[in-house]
Amino acid sequence: MKKFLVKPESKVKLSKWDPNDTGDFKDGKEAGLARLEKLNGKLETLQELLFAEHKHKLLIVLQAMDAGGKDGTIRRVFNSVNPAGVRVASFKAPTPEELDHDFLWRIHKEVPANGEMVIFNRSHYEDVLVVRVHNYIQPEVWGKRFEQINEFERTLAENGTTILKFYLHIDLDEQKERLQARLDDTSKHWKFRIGDLDERKLWPDYMQAFEDVLSKTSTDYAPWYIVPANRKWFRDLLISTVLVDTLEGLKMKYPESEENLDGVVIE
Ligand code: AMP
Ligand code: MG
Repeated sequence: MKKFLVKPESKVKLSKWDPNDTGDFKDGKEAGLARLEKLNGKLETLQELLFAEHKHKLLIVLQAMDAGGKDGTIRRVFNSVNPAGVRVASFKAPTPEELDHDFLWRIHKEVPANGEMVIFNRSHYEDVLVVRVHNYIQPEVWGKRFEQINEFERTLAENGTTILKFYLHIDLDEQKERLQARLDDTSKHWKFRIGDLDERKLWPDYMQAFEDVLSKTSTDYAPWYIVPANRKWFRDLLISTVLVDTLEGLKMKYPESEENLDGVVIE
């Protein structure tokens, strides 16, 4: 899975990353889904351990183009975890109050506490993506934000936060199919905005903006993964694998009781 990690300081060209890639996993969808189910179980146990130990914080950032699969990823990767210890923070267009503050203000309020797992559905990266592509703010302003983001994430990391960032990589054809599916199904109309079609026209600008994000903000303490996401099962499998490997690497332990439980008898 290391293949999908963006090496710090490397220059990313997204046209070189295949959205249909399934890495070393050659056994196909059925086997992939079976493995995903096992990983779901592991993640459930690891999340309980994270909660019980109350020492580490886990932040997961999801970014993608429209219909890239952020919602589906959250549904499928986290379907077994205890909702008590996991939270999703979704970032929409900023409110007037949020716009009156620095761009990290609303983000910082949502970061995980000890024992918590938080998933960012969109994030502070919108503040160097959508705002740049639409020229909402000047290049002098967003240009400084890559550094600011790296410093912010470093602060989080140095204070006990494990950060994993996933860019869900689909291509234009796949987006077309998914948007069409939304249009064809009345139960999906709530997800469809006509404005999404304007965004679609800006695809090359977004790719360039994402390439900058991936090239400038993948660090040892907050790495980006480029997740081939045309195949949903592989997308979920890759993200689950990274989560499980990372959590296992924390070597967490269930805390011992602060009291001496030897000889305690329940009458
Ligand atoms: P959705 O995720 O489909 O509910 O859409 C959320 C919308 O909010 C998207 O169109 C984002 O581009 C937009 N959005 C999120 N964060 C920002 C931001 N910082 N500035 C402007 N628009 C944003
Ligand atoms: Mg949308």
